[in-house]
Amino acid sequence: MNYFPVFFDLSGQKVLVVGGGSVALRKISLLERTGASITVVAPEIAPELMALEAAGTLKLAVREFEPADLDGVRLVIVATSRRAVNRWIANLSESRNIPVNVVDDPEASRFIVPAIIDRDPVLVAVSTGGTSPVLARRLRERLEALIPARIGELASWLKALRRATREKLRDTDERRRFFEAIVDGPAAQRFVDGDAQGARRIAQQRLATTSAAPRAAGDVTLVGAGPGDPELLTLKALRALQDADVILYDRLVAPEVLDLARRDAARICVGKAAGTAGTTQEEINALLVKLANQGKRVVRLKGGDPFVFGRGGEELQALAKAQINFSVVPGITAALGAAAYAGIPLTHRDFAHSVTFVTGHAQGHGEAPGPEPDWRTLAKPGATAVFYMGLARLDHIVEKLLQHGAAATRPTGIIAQGTTANQRVITATLATIREVLSGANVESPALLIVGDVVALHPTLAWFGTTVAVDLSRTA
Ligand code: SAH
Repeated sequence: MNYFPVFFDLSGQKVLVVGGGSVALRKISLLERTGASITVVAPEIAPELMALEAAGTLKLAVREFEPADLDGVRLVIVATSRRAVNRWIANLSESRNIPVNVVDDPEASRFIVPAIIDRDPVLVAVSTGGTSPVLARRLRERLEALIPARIGELASWLKALRRATREKLRDTDERRRFFEAIVDGPAAQRFVDGDAQGARRIAQQRLATTSAAPRAAGDVTLVGAGPGDPELLTLKALRALQDADVILYDRLVAPEVLDLARRDAARICVGKAAGTAGTTQEEINALLVKLANQGKRVVRLKGGDPFVFGRGGEELQALAKAQINFSVVPGITAALGAAAYAGIPLTHRDFAHSVTFVTGHAQGHGEAPGPEPDWRTLAKPGATAVFYMGLARLDHIVEKLLQHGAAATRPTGIIAQGTTANQRVITATLATIREVLSGANVESPALLIVGDVVALHPTLAWFGTTVAVDLSRTA
């Protein structure tokens, strides 16, 4: 981001405009609305500006610019038709730390002026960072169509309503929820449709019922964040993220997904890296219960799907025991996401009629392995096995499958950082996968897929990078 977006309060502030033509006039008509004290310096002055001086809107100095014109100035806008003069004034302003805009010359400008939609007090500003005024204008036109004409009046009404809620509602969470209900619901709709009285009635009723009701109970939404690509998030997950007061997330959750959350939601990382203790499951459960009991809307955000090797079930058991309301938003689990992005169909009429999701670590990272999976079933031909958290125990998995009758030539793949820009796919056979993997530079998280469907990868790959293809011994 090259520019810091701000709205500048210029009322009563001295603003200098250098230039007296139509370009200057356009900027002045904007400045005028802010109540700035405007001085225009130019040897030649458009008649409209004379009229504005006569009306007392601005002061005119009909002459060339002089450096002393910058004395006591808050902001400068330079709009002469002479580029060298513009740049000279810009440099002078810079050396005196006065923010300067040279019209149509972003390089010489300290600030730029966005395209705006002015529905006072609502102001929507659009900037393309000085790259394309036409694009900015088009965007503005699209936004114009989306924003109700009476949005400014609506904002003023909401401001008045704020006073009433400060007396009647208990805390900021309660007030925010009240305003969300007003803005998203029938009250705001009526208001912008022109029925201010109807809107007021609905708001008053809501205020009365909210302040009389017992404090709203908190709840927990268990949300699947998907395997990495933020666009794989469901609409429900997005809504939950935007409604959350607080978000407890795992290390596996992509930062781009967290960026979609409500800006002032508290974010707590409870994830653990492989082999480290991190926050214990008991601590996470206790935190969920505590936050919900404080009346918060809690989102528990987990990579992939919360019910697939995500301990979502255990967290819900703790919530159920504490009698806290909860709901679950499924996510695309790593096996589905990574296989899709690697072009490896998990079932296929010619190659596999079943698919099994297995965990390499039966109890999760850093804990003793649990009971062994049913290796005989996994080793059978015509089936696909997907191992989560399997890379650390790759040797063990390969040996067990071979011992239980899987062919050494069984196609075997590894998908690392699936669905992300860093996705890497390795394909080999059960016999060669370890050797091929050791020569490749692969970073976790990664999945191991064993089954004939892996042989389809070279034909169906459409995304990311394939590190190694060694299916020679499967032919
Ligand atoms: N609940 C998650 C799984 C958590 S277990 C889900 O449904 O996807 C963590 C394991 O998931 C990792 O060790 C890895 O095997 C797998 N995994 C998660 N994200 C992945 C990704 N983007 N690419 C490949 N494997 C991934």
